[in-house]
Amino acid sequence: MRWTPGGRSPNLEDRRGSGMGVPLGVGGGILVLILSLIFGPDVISNGNETESGGEVALSPADSAREEPMVQFVSFVLDDAQTTWASAFARGGSDYRPARMVLFRDGTISGCGPAQGAMGPFYCPLDEKVYLDLDFFNELDRKFGAPGDFAEAYVIAHELGHHVQHLTGVDSRVRQAQRDNPGAANQLSVRLELQADCYAGVWGHSAADRGKLEPGDIEEGLGAASAVGDDRIQRRTTGSVNVDSFTHGTAAQRVQWFRRGFESGSAQACDTFGGQP
Ligand SMILES: [Zn+2]
Repeated sequence: MRWTPGGRSPNLEDRRGSGMGVPLGVGGGILVLILSLIFGPDVISNGNETESGGEVALSPADSAREEPMVQFVSFVLDDAQTTWASAFARGGSDYRPARMVLFRDGTISGCGPAQGAMGPFYCPLDEKVYLDLDFFNELDRKFGAPGDFAEAYVIAHELGHHVQHLTGVDSRVRQAQRDNPGAANQLSVRLELQADCYAGVWGHSAADRGKLEPGDIEEGLGAASAVGDDRIQRRTTGSVNVDSFTHGTAAQRVQWFRRGFESGSAQACDTFGGQP
């Protein structure tokens, strides 16, 4: 992608230095202070040890190494949200930006504990995207999908879920899943494919504005294909069970990303055939 490294997004929340993301907080600090008043200053150093044990600080080397990635994530986050804000404005509605939480290993999300191993996700309850930057190494090495646009696709996909939250599609799908549990997987696949299509819609806008370089689209399609359920299942279980698909096959994910990319229109992303 063509982008200029700049600052950080105002919607970025960096929790990489805070371990499980459960800060000691004022209560904890006061507790340590009280204990130290009772037991003497030794407790303070113990308290600090506990703190550094529970909260793995980001080393300056890690911090410097990851800073370009943090700025790239910021660029994609802001660029995609600006694109959606204009699309919403054209449709006569307001866009409320999502926030993105960067964490390392684990943190607490509005939807419960988050672990890096779960992969990036969007939590509609706090309207935040959760991302462990390590996932991008995995995308490259384990999924065989390298490149900055592969990373951008992942972020844009998660923001696609935020768009679904703002339009109410996600709550209508949850309701439909409760009404018809037998169709729950199929509905989940459609929701995921729509998020892929929305990622493509942003890609179209980025291309229009000259932000794409040769090879970017292939990187995005490669990532969409690599994280298809069939590919992931084959890698992990050696077989493919279509009924348990929740994200769509590699071919479907590529197809819907491409549809969004070529049309540049959210209306083209009707994976539900008019429902829900
Ligand atoms: Zn998704």
